Amino acid sequence: MTTDELKALVRAIPDFPAPGILFRDITTLIGHGAGFAASVALLAERASASGAQAIAGIEARGFIFGGAVAARLGLPFVPLRKPGKLPVAVLSIEYALEYGTDRLEIDPGAVTAGQQVLIIDDLIATGGTALAAGELLRRAGASVTQALFVIDLPDLGGAGRLRTAGIAVEALLAFPGH
Ligand code: AMP
Repeated sequence: MTTDELKALVRAIPDFPAPGILFRDITTLIGHGAGFAASVALLAERASASGAQAIAGIEARGFIFGGAVAARLGLPFVPLRKPGKLPVAVLSIEYALEYGTDRLEIDPGAVTAGQQVLIIDDLIATGGTALAAGELLRRAGASVTQALFVIDLPDLGGAGRLRTAGIAVEALLAFPGH
């Protein structure tokens, strides 16, 4: 499938979850068998080229793509979870959202010292979520130099923020203007 065909499978919902936000919804992409398969194949190609030794996915939509890529490449999957989900002592990081804060947690035993871990999520906007994910993985001992997304909203500057933190960004699809 072409990039334009994949982009056409992403549904745009105005004013969700708040007025003024154009929500790029991947429900329709993963609901299309060929579209989902092509997205995972393209992500896996890039993940493989990056030399990643493990894939970290951000709950919840990062689990869909990150889990599929990890299984396809035979790599370990590291879940970065919403608060209160893991049954062990966790490392956690709080980060700012547009309104308020959120938190990600990791089982520190899920990565090994110096392991090359690639972050995967569905979408990068301001980059705050992925930056927090990178910081959390580094605190757990991982080496994080790359993050991979299905969608980049380039006007929101997330890729630049990650690059400043030493994390290169790649995305399959870009939606400029939002
Ligand atoms: P950010 O931390 O600003 O890069 O936001 C990224 C996270 O919020 C990702 O997990 C996305 O799933 C979600 N997100 C932010 N903005 C949008 C948007 N316009 N459409 C869909 N998801 C979004």
